[in-house]
Amino acid sequence: MEIVVATRNAHKLAEIQALLGDAGITAVSLAAFPDAPPVVEDGATFAENAAKKALLIARSTGRLTVADDSGLEVPAIGGAPGVLSARYAGARVTDAENNAKLLQVLAAVPKSRRRARFVCCVAIAAADGLLVTLNGTCAGRIAFSPQGEQGFGYDPLFYLPRYAKTFAELPAAIKNKISHRGRAFAKANVWLRRYLRRGAVPPPAGKDAYER
Ligand code: IMP
Repeated sequence: MEIVVATRNAHKLAEIQALLGDAGITAVSLAAFPDAPPVVEDGATFAENAAKKALLIARSTGRLTVADDSGLEVPAIGGAPGVLSARYAGARVTDAENNAKLLQVLAAVPKSRRRARFVCCVAIAAADGLLVTLNGTCAGRIAFSPQGEQGFGYDPLFYLPRYAKTFAELPAAIKNKISHRGRAFAKANVWLRRYLRRGAVPPPAGKDAYER
């Protein structure tokens, strides 16, 4: 079976195909659908953005579609940067600029209040409606300075006490296993396998919801 992944990013497609590889599912990106409409990510939550993207692309392609939205939440600053993670320091900024802003905003915040989590929401939609949203999270805290060279985004500031390393210092294979994205897509993989066998089924335990 073929599913559309609502991205034009070849790297993201490869990552998702690797996750779904043994489920008998072939992922194709929006590169195969040049007329698909652009999606404005203006939702108040990751789930809203992921669902909007999945639904719009499923409607325009007529295919089962998977979309995701992700970001960083820091409770000490009201959950910021949240859905604005990619544009925290402005509309067209670098990861380094976003990281610098976060460090500046948290300058007076002590270690005990620097708790943070990454969140990823995966939405799956068919042309006639949203099927499911699935969340993955990964807890850590914000370091006082960037450490490590790997990864992207806020990885150099996201410290995992369990590994005594930031995401940017961890090998990609470990990050992919424990990350918000890895966890959300692992759930999506399980859900899609079951969907292929039995069609839509009740949601798994927890907050993930069907809205069909
Ligand atoms: P999107 O889901 O591709 O829209 O990602 C939104 C933004 O969240 C990215 O631009 C990053 O700033 C941040 N982000 C999401 N996932 C990660 C991650 O695994 N590491 C670091 N930053 C991330």
